[in-house]
Amino acid sequence: MEPQYFKHFINGEFVSSSRTFPKHRPSDGALIGQVCEAGKAEVNAAVAAARAAMKGPWGRMSVEDRTALLHKVADEINRRAEDFVLAEMNDTGQPRAMVEHGFIPRGAANFKIFADVIKNVPAESFTSSSPDGRGALNYSIRVPKGVIGVVCPWNAPLLLMTWKVGPALACGNTVVVKPSEETPATAALLGEVMNAVGVPPGVYNVVHGFGPDSAGAFLTSHPGVDAITFTGETRTGTAIMKAAADGIRSVSFELGGKNAGVVFADCDLDAAIEGIGRAAFMNCGQICLGTERLYVERPIFDRFVTALKKRAESLKPGNPEDAGTTLGPLISEEQRNKVLSYYKKARDEGATLVTGGGVPDMPGELAHGHWVQPTIWTGLPETASVIREEIFGPCCHIAPFDTEDEAIERANDTEYGLCTTIWTQNLTRAHRVAARIDVGIAWINSWFLRDLRTPFGGSKRSGIGREGGVHSLEFYTELRNICVKL
Ligand code: NAD
Repeated sequence: MEPQYFKHFINGEFVSSSRTFPKHRPSDGALIGQVCEAGKAEVNAAVAAARAAMKGPWGRMSVEDRTALLHKVADEINRRAEDFVLAEMNDTGQPRAMVEHGFIPRGAANFKIFADVIKNVPAESFTSSSPDGRGALNYSIRVPKGVIGVVCPWNAPLLLMTWKVGPALACGNTVVVKPSEETPATAALLGEVMNAVGVPPGVYNVVHGFGPDSAGAFLTSHPGVDAITFTGETRTGTAIMKAAADGIRSVSFELGGKNAGVVFADCDLDAAIEGIGRAAFMNCGQICLGTERLYVERPIFDRFVTALKKRAESLKPGNPEDAGTTLGPLISEEQRNKVLSYYKKARDEGATLVTGGGVPDMPGELAHGHWVQPTIWTGLPETASVIREEIFGPCCHIAPFDTEDEAIERANDTEYGLCTTIWTQNLTRAHRVAARIDVGIAWINSWFLRDLRTPFGGSKRSGIGREGGVHSLEFYTELRNICVKL
């Protein structure tokens, strides 16, 4: 494979910058290319292009034409699906099936859903009478916020980026995207797609680089950026919020999680193992919605632990291209060191290791990849590091509980509040428990079952705001009230 060279995408053109950094492939650690790092000059140019585009044809385009263009973007992603799949697999090491049937089609769908939503939003209006007996008509219109800074993580690069770029553009904004330094490829490909379907220059811009003292910080502190949408760690969200305070820019944050699964003895155990198996190990645990804490009602505790162990041990790490591969690597050596440091902490804090806890033996070149074993622990107190802190690896701790109130209290004993997954055949209890767990999303007898029209986001330190369907419009538009004296 030719070494790749990832450029910024500014005002419809791919441009390089003098500084670059290396990009390694997670599955075998091979150096696969160089990524340009944006300095202030490139970020300034991208923001200026985005501001200028708001004043050009894009800013005057009818909602029908704009949304038709976004449908073309989605169609072009689907037409070039194999390019996107290869780029994403190379960047992340994710198994082909997950990328091909999950993340890339969802990336395309993100453009269609928001294009359709924006065309169908009703406007509110009020008629009122004034003291002199004459009337007034008040109505509101939605206008774009302007230039949106989009800062993205690496765990589902195209999906998570388009989840923000889709609604931002549907609402008539322009964007400057800062992809994760770990995953530059699909953001660059999307630039080619934008040009191919005729999205005007400057509407979609990409600057590569890191966070602090690099493209991320330059973008989020740029006064020409009107609002910032961010997915990533809670700690990073804090830094971005401080930057956004200058200029009173609004933020939408999708942040970390330490999500609890609650499994009652009356659940369909096979279904629960299937669902929790995905929640704990999918994408090698690199999913914000993943379940790293499990509370299982005591009568089925031992059976549950045995069954989830079997499930974890059935996962097959390997080349992302191989049909039998069901587990990818972690994104980077740094992330592997972080996850392994938690595997050590669990040992040091006295966990009972049910399975995993180390690094799998991988053949040939794959031995240089960032692999870890799916891991399950039991026996730790609620104060243990692996129960309190987000690990973002393929691992979970399972604890028994005796009463519904106890399960709810333990599920809520965290600073995070992204999601939960509840397993029981008693639907009355399911609804009751779902309402009492402090999260943005509660799944009952399911996990990661998404309808893109529903509100998505976290409570507590897992985020600010909700995106999805009409909820995205709240962030990506300003409501303007117009009052007419009649
Ligand atoms: P991260 O916070 O380290 O990085 C995310 C992005 O922020 C990257 O592009 C990075 O370069 C940039 N960044 C870092 N510091 C910055 C700064 N000071 N200013 C501006 N930009 C900065 O997150 P990550 O490691 O890429 O992703 C994993 C995290 O993302 C986990 O905590 C996970 O839970 C979270 N996440 C949340 C959701 C959600 O929907 N709630 C979805 C996916 C991932």
